[in-house]
Amino acid sequence: MKFRLCVLVCLFQTAFAQEPISYSVSFDNAEHHEANISVTFSNIGKEPLELYMSRSSPGRYALHEFVKNIYDVKATDAKDKPLVLTQPDPYSWRIEKHDGTVTINYTLFGDYCDGTYSAIDPTHAHLNIPATFIWAKGMDQRPIRVQFKIPKHWKIATQLKPTENPVVFTASDFQYFMDSPVEISDFDWYEWKVPYKDRSQTIRMSLHHSDRKDESQAFFEVVKAIVLEAKAVFLEFPQYDNGTYTFLADYLPYARRDGMEHRNSTVITHHHSLQTGLIDIAGSVSHEFFHCWNVERIRPKSLEPFDFMRANMSGELWFAEGFTSYYDALILKRAAITSLDQYAKNMSKDLSFFLGSPGRRYFSAVDMSRQAPFADAATSNDPQNKSNTFISYYNFGAMLGLALDLSIREKFPNLTLDDLMREMWDAHGRNELPYTNDDVKAALAKTTHDKKFADTFFEKYIFGRETPGFKKLLAQAGLLLRKSKPGKPSLGTMDWKISENSIELQKPSIIGSPLYKAGLDRGDKIFTINGEGIAEINQLDTILSHYYIGDTLTVEYEQRTKRKTAKLILAEDTEWEVVTFEKAGEPITSDIENFRKNWLTSRSSEPLPVLKKYCPECKRLFDFELEFCGFDGSELKLIP
Ligand SMILES: [Zn+2]
Ligand SMILES: [Zn+2]
Repeated sequence: MKFRLCVLVCLFQTAFAQEPISYSVSFDNAEHHEANISVTFSNIGKEPLELYMSRSSPGRYALHEFVKNIYDVKATDAKDKPLVLTQPDPYSWRIEKHDGTVTINYTLFGDYCDGTYSAIDPTHAHLNIPATFIWAKGMDQRPIRVQFKIPKHWKIATQLKPTENPVVFTASDFQYFMDSPVEISDFDWYEWKVPYKDRSQTIRMSLHHSDRKDESQAFFEVVKAIVLEAKAVFLEFPQYDNGTYTFLADYLPYARRDGMEHRNSTVITHHHSLQTGLIDIAGSVSHEFFHCWNVERIRPKSLEPFDFMRANMSGELWFAEGFTSYYDALILKRAAITSLDQYAKNMSKDLSFFLGSPGRRYFSAVDMSRQAPFADAATSNDPQNKSNTFISYYNFGAMLGLALDLSIREKFPNLTLDDLMREMWDAHGRNELPYTNDDVKAALAKTTHDKKFADTFFEKYIFGRETPGFKKLLAQAGLLLRKSKPGKPSLGTMDWKISENSIELQKPSIIGSPLYKAGLDRGDKIFTINGEGIAEINQLDTILSHYYIGDTLTVEYEQRTKRKTAKLILAEDTEWEVVTFEKAGEPITSDIENFRKNWLTSRSSEPLPVLKKYCPECKRLFDFELEFCGFDGSELKLIP
């Protein structure tokens, strides 16, 4: 009996489920950043219809309240008769009575070109789906059809399924639709077939920019190198849903620096051009493409299914975002897009922040991951103490990725972090079985056949708050971790602005720093140090250069309108750097050479495209990883 009932219900649900939801979008007022959108829900029975505008968007974990840019919302039935809309809360509407068909018309305003919001202007329509489309509750399984009414010279790029009509696309269900951003513009378009099992898949790129076409063409070769090097970590591509993976790139002065991963595509935006932002842009290509394995398919359980009506919390972002960040830089190095010096320089920045931040006193890598809703694009008016309490899970995770990779290499001669990533791909990615932190620990134990190693690493550094021994780990690769300004006296890291005859502290002083110990904090204005005025920060450097670490100075400052003085004891500058042994004048052994070779050179079994840069002055060709011409010092470029 139970079974029969189920059959009937299932049959009914299937019939119910097959009626597609139909969207239509036009951009008649693009100069003023508006899109006109209509959506029809048909065959929906007699129940009241609940409509929503998303509050959140996968991959950027704060609340964005997309409803704030929606207006002129109107509802009609099958006979075009107006329907009454009520608004039970700020993000939803309700229609009590209708005839089984409801069409909603509304206007969307969008003027922010990044991976989370939408941008409509005379050059393009750049749409993140949760920021664009109203949806109905309880219709998650219905297929979706979307038609774009666009100017003749515009084309459409998206991971949505194409149809015979070039302006109509479909999605199999709600979750896939929400995950499928759309770029519509007069973009450059590139395709590249890569072998996959006994067939092929296509890597594609739409590139909306205002530079020369040969530039985007040259850049697609860089993309190919990154794609091959990323694949070499996992040994295979994921199976892309429609046989395609698409980079949706916008490099425009009015775009924001951003990247956002999706199942079979990514949005990458930058205010720089390919000429001026090349390495940063290549880094975001590397980061986002790595996500097609790590986070899109090797997926934290805590993010499934994604709830668009609340902030989604995940304690696994140190792995999902952080390890992806570790690999984005590593892949550029392996593909010889960056040099060893550049790789070390980047690492210096990240490691210096990680080592200098008091954040680990308060939170572990897992705790930091759970704070994503307050970090990435989150906004609020009141100041926070994040400079003391927060280390981004990107930075934290990337440094743990570095520590774990180097620890594995130190202890298990034939294993690397790549082996752990492959184990995660085998256990959780290919079959899309979402994971927990304990699953990553189990995968590490399985990879290394050493449960104790895995337990200890997780207890100390993932769940715990200890600092890995980077100096010893990095030395294996002939990299030296050292203070970048040894012996230099400092008041502590500070953000400041010049304000009348003083410098005003812009952020909370760092716990343990001379400023902090002397009782100075955000908003305080420093007028003099040992009687000398410091209206400009370079004056501060000049003043401090007359003193030594441990010297006591008198600071005259204003705090909450009160003029005060304090004694301040100078401490050593807290910045760290990573330099090659070559630069530090230390010997390079054959062990170091081998270590570097295994860690930092191409892992790809397929040859990478030969990448070159050009000197704009002398027109010579150089290896891509070089930054400047060896003859005239000019900055090297992507195209002649
Ligand atoms: Zn665009
Ligand atoms: Zn990411």
